[in-house]
Amino acid sequence: MVLTLFGPPGSGKGTQAEFLVQHFGIPQVSTGDLLRREVEADTELGRQARIYMERGDLVPDQITLELFRRRLQEPDSAPGVLLDGFPRTVGQAQALDHLLAEMGKRMDRVIRILVPEEVLVERISGRLTCPVCGRTYHPRLKPPRLEGRCDYDGAALLQREDDSPTTAHRRIKVYQQRTLPVLEHYRSQGVVSEVDGTGTVEQVRERVIAAAEGRELDAADASGSQA
Ligand code: AMP
Repeated sequence: MVLTLFGPPGSGKGTQAEFLVQHFGIPQVSTGDLLRREVEADTELGRQARIYMERGDLVPDQITLELFRRRLQEPDSAPGVLLDGFPRTVGQAQALDHLLAEMGKRMDRVIRILVPEEVLVERISGRLTCPVCGRTYHPRLKPPRLEGRCDYDGAALLQREDDSPTTAHRRIKVYQQRTLPVLEHYRSQGVVSEVDGTGTVEQVRERVIAAAEGRELDAADASGSQA
């Protein structure tokens, strides 16, 4: 089973990924997490990627694809994967099609999470991230049980460098210009489901799981300012 969560930064992909991982028993592969690990380990790939990430730009496909290919070769990916933040360009989507075909797999479902732009900026700008497990929180929208501490491992929460309001706007713009066209790529394969990403985390979870299982869902109105 190969699933992708598709949506702009702040749409809740990471939060929903956690539920899908539990529900389907497949690992989450987040290229953002893979890249941050390289940056932290100060590898050659990490040093190259860092410049783009700090600006809120996409890292060149060559780097992302190399990391993704390595991750897909790990044995836990064999039953399937849940992709989070990948593919983000049409070039990545085409490369992924080839890679999956070589493995006798295909993209089963792309779940697009729709959230109005003003909500995205509010969510990203206040977001706090656990440096140990990557879980995210928000002081008002999704507070941790103990202020400033991760619910799971107690680590002190931090604001990601690229979660400042200015970089958040830039990342949303990059999403609209470079990542939205990926949706058309998958529409032509008939695998896209659209989910309303507003409401409580639990409400969105119900919609996302229904979409992943191919059940009828209350699709959001794709018009207006939805990103
Ligand atoms: P994320 O954690 O998914 O918001 O990703 C954080 C940053 O990592 C993005 O702003 C990009 O700079 C980079 N990144 C993550 N995934 C990709 C990808 N598939 N292609 C290019 N850059 C990526």
